[in-house]
Amino acid sequence: MNQSSFSARPCWAEIDLRALEDNYRSLRGLVHELASAGAECVAVVKGDAYGHSLELCAPAAVRAGAAWLGVTSVEEAVAARELCPESRVLVMGGVFDGQGAAVVEHGITPSVWTLRQIEALEAALEGAARAAGAGPGAFAVHLEIDTGMSRQGAGLDELPEILARFTADSPLRVEAVMTHLYASDEADRVKSAAQLEKLEEALRVLHAANPAAAAKVEFLSAGASAALLGGDGAAIAEIAARWKLRPMLRTGLALYGVAPHVIPSGKGNAAVKLRPVMTWKTRVGCLREVPAGAEIGYNGTFTATEPMRLALVAAGYADGLDRRLGNRFSLLVRGERAPLVGRVSMDQAVIDVTEIAGVCEGDEVVILGAQDEEEVTAYDHADAEGTIPWEVFTRIAPRVARIAV
Ligand SMILES: *Cc1c(COP(=O)(O)O)cnc(C)c1O
Repeated sequence: MNQSSFSARPCWAEIDLRALEDNYRSLRGLVHELASAGAECVAVVKGDAYGHSLELCAPAAVRAGAAWLGVTSVEEAVAARELCPESRVLVMGGVFDGQGAAVVEHGITPSVWTLRQIEALEAALEGAARAAGAGPGAFAVHLEIDTGMSRQGAGLDELPEILARFTADSPLRVEAVMTHLYASDEADRVKSAAQLEKLEEALRVLHAANPAAAAKVEFLSAGASAALLGGDGAAIAEIAARWKLRPMLRTGLALYGVAPHVIPSGKGNAAVKLRPVMTWKTRVGCLREVPAGAEIGYNGTFTATEPMRLALVAAGYADGLDRRLGNRFSLLVRGERAPLVGRVSMDQAVIDVTEIAGVCEGDEVVILGAQDEEEVTAYDHADAEGTIPWEVFTRIAPRVARIAV
């Protein structure tokens, strides 16, 4: 479809790349406060940069100084590698059968935690390393430890067998010992403390079982946005210092300008000024006046109790505008809140503009973001939809154009 020959349906997301760059620099500043020299802040750009567009955001993060990009899959890593040829690209979601060769070919750094993954990489490296003349330990992997989330990572009992694979002549080298903290948003830090204790136990096992491999480890990789903005970052840095490792934190949500809420109440945003990167917009299509008694939308779940002025907008649940928002959420037009009335349709929704003066066809409508003094945040959406901002962003459909501003 040649979209340059006509205007697109007006449902788009503006991506403020300067905000993203500033956010990255602020977060990296916080990471450097934890450990002056050598602390790393991975820019997490998985899930098409949390729905913000990998193509736009990965190069912006790199411009702001990110040396590392974090993605979920080898597919995402190959896309990131094409955009950012000089960056380190970390695959956090594992390498699947048949992907070893692509990992090697594109110089991707995978997290690994099973013998099967390690063997697949060894097999892929065998031919390639010989051809390239690369020596033992030339290929870096991040060894993930399950410290309590039971999602991915090696258990402490599995570690010795896995560590035995990192022999002196193995092409693989453990560059980072990695884990994922699953409750950094809980202010009491009980779960994180238990996880970090296990992580330290893994370091002890590593040093006892394979001191040569342990000596080559450079990073202790743990903690996402909530860890950095909450209390876990300092604890991670402390352990890293004890083991002469560089702390590596992996920030996603905060990079896009949304600080995870710490429960019950933590520092969150206070530690750093973040700016939301995305403003999701549509426009008023048609305006219509309806009399009292008119039913609005599928099944007439809203009935006008008085004459009303309605605006049709070009956004529906196929765009990611959650159907649960019908009759219980407002969008912004002319800097004021306009309630969604009736059900959200697949491609359209109706807002009540009766009380808002001067609304015209073609007016911009903000679905998520700020307009004048008003703002609809990702947390507003998440709370109304019974989910979290991460899901709000990643459910915005591909057909919503992402436009750099
Ligand atoms: C997504 C992800 C992150 C980033 O999490 P945020 O909460 O968005 O900062 C960090 N580490 C891993 C392993 C992840 O999967």
